[in-house]
Amino acid sequence: MKNIVLFGPPGSGKGTQAEVLKDIYNLVHISTGDVFRYNIKNESTLGKLAKSYMDDGNLVPDDVTINMLKAEVEKHPDVHGFIFDGFPRTESQAKALDVFLNEKNEPIKGMVALEVPEDLLVERLLNRGLTSGRTDDQDVSKIRNRFKEYQTKTAVLQDYYAKQNKYFGVNGVGSIEDITERICQVIDKM
Ligand code: ADP
Repeated sequence: MKNIVLFGPPGSGKGTQAEVLKDIYNLVHISTGDVFRYNIKNESTLGKLAKSYMDDGNLVPDDVTINMLKAEVEKHPDVHGFIFDGFPRTESQAKALDVFLNEKNEPIKGMVALEVPEDLLVERLLNRGLTSGRTDDQDVSKIRNRFKEYQTKTAVLQDYYAKQNKYFGVNGVGSIEDITERICQVIDKM
């Protein structure tokens, strides 16, 4: 079983690559951002809770996010593995994920981190905001706040996985196909 974390700042291409990789490796793609947006659309209790945080570009609290993630995993009992996109985003999320997956004897095989310079990220997010309808992609101050959240809470995960020899950086600049190929070279060796 291959459980993989796809990592990188907002706009680095995690969602795009996860959609391609899930077919190549026969994995279930779980995007915490997508699950939150689905809940907001359906006006569920979870959605109402997450909305205020997401609207400002802040992270949703850990307990809410972790419980949601576990519930998503439990929906798929018989699978080859998961590709986690947008989770974990804090050290306590990473620890909770390790405990949860170790209990199942299916630990994370590795984290693939997409590396993209910040200027290009802002450009990509603003472009996405033109067509996606995502309000958090349409406002430079919200985008900057997401980077700040990433730098202060999420970037430490590089160390967390590196200490377990599970961190693999990949150049995230180039065509979608080229980047997929770079990621596959890494996953194939896990
Ligand atoms: P991006 O990575 O491009 O910012 P996502 O769709 O992954 O977009 O996430 C959008 C928003 O959803 C985040 O800004 C945050 O508010 C919330 N979110 C997603 N994943 C998490 C998480 N693991 N922990 C806390 N909040 C999250």
